[in-house]
Amino acid sequence: MSEFQQELHLALTAVRRASTVCTAIQAGISPETLSKQDKSPVTIADYSSQALICAALQSEFPADPVIGEEDAAELRRPDQAQFLEKVLIHLRNAGIHCDAEQVCDWIDRGGASDFQHRFWTLDPIDGTKGFLRREQYAVSLALIVDGQIVLGVLGCPNLPFNSVVGGTLFWAVRSGGAWMQPLDESLPPCRIHVAALQNRNDLRFCESVESGHSKQDTAATIAEKLGITAEPIRMDSQAKYGVVARGDAHIYLRLPTRADYREKIWDHAGGVIVVTEAGGIVTDVRGRPLDFTRGRELSTNQGVIVTTGGIHQEVVEAYRLAVGE
Ligand code: AMP
Ligand code: MG
Repeated sequence: MSEFQQELHLALTAVRRASTVCTAIQAGISPETLSKQDKSPVTIADYSSQALICAALQSEFPADPVIGEEDAAELRRPDQAQFLEKVLIHLRNAGIHCDAEQVCDWIDRGGASDFQHRFWTLDPIDGTKGFLRREQYAVSLALIVDGQIVLGVLGCPNLPFNSVVGGTLFWAVRSGGAWMQPLDESLPPCRIHVAALQNRNDLRFCESVESGHSKQDTAATIAEKLGITAEPIRMDSQAKYGVVARGDAHIYLRLPTRADYREKIWDHAGGVIVVTEAGGIVTDVRGRPLDFTRGRELSTNQGVIVTTGGIHQEVVEAYRLAVGE
């Protein structure tokens, strides 16, 4: 049997369950919540997703640290009791019966910061703005061993699997190819590959919806240099990695909006292995490999460029020219 099969099974199950909980919470977001820019549904879904996934990791791999986005410090405060109660209700609905202390302990299992020989990294809801808008978001979990991502799972509850089925799960294990399946398992898994590039006119790129997360005007300059005429596919979350991995787009540009921002490992690890196992290439904007040995941040990298392969150096060079270097 190939490596990491026990880990893969656990990660797939946990991400599926977390995605179901997030879907239920998202369905309840009211227009008033949105108009008041009230972030409470995100908070509840973030905590529920992290608690559920960390509980699963704790039960099978208790020695593995988890570098997650959240911790329970705030949730433990008395004025947060209403959030905590809601998290408990959502977990109960998912079949997990526990008390408040247990939930906070699970969430805090995701509070590791330092690089270790073997650790998981988790974004319980990546693309929170998309989650609130009822657009794209992802639950992302990855396992890193000796600084290399060896497994990644992305749950994308709002990403169509095909024209009929909604909700897509992507995953990859090192050297095992990249796969996708409807989140509800209504169809069997299928292997995915990045798109072959036949014609320049077909090139499509994707980027963040949020201009604060990626410099969209520089991306437009790069697109022009590469002769891309199609409009960018704007999408929240690591769903963008899945979209390139399965051939819907050829390039994902994440261009620094300021010199001092450092990408967070949980915003990338799951997506990076999915797209590389599908045949894609991932570097930072300078063409350097992403370095997952630095703790919570990709502190020696800036931005991210993902391509289907052949055009990678050309895109890196176009970035250099676009920023005037
Ligand atoms: P996206 O949905 O692709 O726009 O990415 C969402 C992620 O962007 C969040 O999880 C944040 O961690 C991350 N983020 C926040 N600020 C920035 C920034 N200035 N540059 C890049 N990413 C950011
Ligand atoms: Mg995120």
